[in-house]
Amino acid sequence: ATPTAVMVATGVGANNGVLIKGGDALERAQKVKYVIFDKTGTLTQGKAKVTTVKVFSEMDRGEFLTLVASAEASSEHPLAKAIVEYARHFHFFDENSLTEDAQNSSKGSPVSAWLLDVAEFSAVPGRGIQCSIDRKRVLVGNRKLLTESGVTIPTHVENFVVDLEENARTGILVAYDGDAVGVLGVADPLKREAAVVVEGLGKMGVIPVMVTGDNWRTAQAVAREVGIHDVRAEVMPAGKADVVRSFQKDGSIVAMVGDGINDSPALAAADVGMAIGAGTDIAIEAADYVLMRNNLEDVITAIDISRKTFSRIR
Ligand code: ADP
Ligand code: MG
Repeated sequence: ATPTAVMVATGVGANNGVLIKGGDALERAQKVKYVIFDKTGTLTQGKAKVTTVKVFSEMDRGEFLTLVASAEASSEHPLAKAIVEYARHFHFFDENSLTEDAQNSSKGSPVSAWLLDVAEFSAVPGRGIQCSIDRKRVLVGNRKLLTESGVTIPTHVENFVVDLEENARTGILVAYDGDAVGVLGVADPLKREAAVVVEGLGKMGVIPVMVTGDNWRTAQAVAREVGIHDVRAEVMPAGKADVVRSFQKDGSIVAMVGDGINDSPALAAADVGMAIGAGTDIAIEAADYVLMRNNLEDVITAIDISRKTFSRIR
């Protein structure tokens, strides 16, 4: 293609909200064989919602939600935001549980009014978060987070989590002072266009793949819903780039689509990195393409533009 053709293609992209950061990526996109999608925030809306709260201890629901939301309040993770939001609503509507102080300040800062003091907060990548509340250790995250800290997951708790996961929910476990005290179920619906785009890619001869840090059962339930057959789950943030490289081994051209900080090494490793425009700045920086409309149909648009620009006669 001539420089003029590249300029025209870049302009066509821009008009469609597809920012193309260079001629090389534009050329590689026509040859894409695999498109690897991140799950959370890319295939799904990333607007997680708490659907289930199950307490396995003496605590009542209000106390449990206060504990979990306090622990998650410093986390930027979409799961954390969903939990804090749910707890805020719970306390707002359950006025009996509000102290006078909290009610008075509910206009200004309804969250901080009932949050507990948290010490030694830390995020554990791909696992969850940990902190201390009232000098007691609090863990919120997946199985690995609990077991690696020496917390045993009783069978009835495990069964409850399995049931959530088989229904495409992410099960979040909570440990307090060494005991598994409760579980939250979180749903994150697919983007409207996700299944149509996956089908469209198939018709173009492109193989869709899903990669996620979430557990296998939830990942497979979501993949089934969207029509993806090749899934890689329980992948640590650094591992997503390795997944990209494993598909490149036989010389195949690989595109990665993602939105999170987690995804940026994979976006950089891919032949064609595509960042969701609403995603984090670090992902956008690492990518060759930015999909400004946050619509997955633009993955197809991007490949189309490249094919039309670089095919001799079509
Ligand atoms: P993804 O690749 O789907 O974006 P992440 O790597 O961010 O997933 O997280 C992997 C898993 O770790 C989540 O599915 C969840 O089980 C757990 N996790 C991570 N951060 C948190 C958090 N702040 N609160 C609860 N669980 C978390
Ligand atoms: Mg994501």
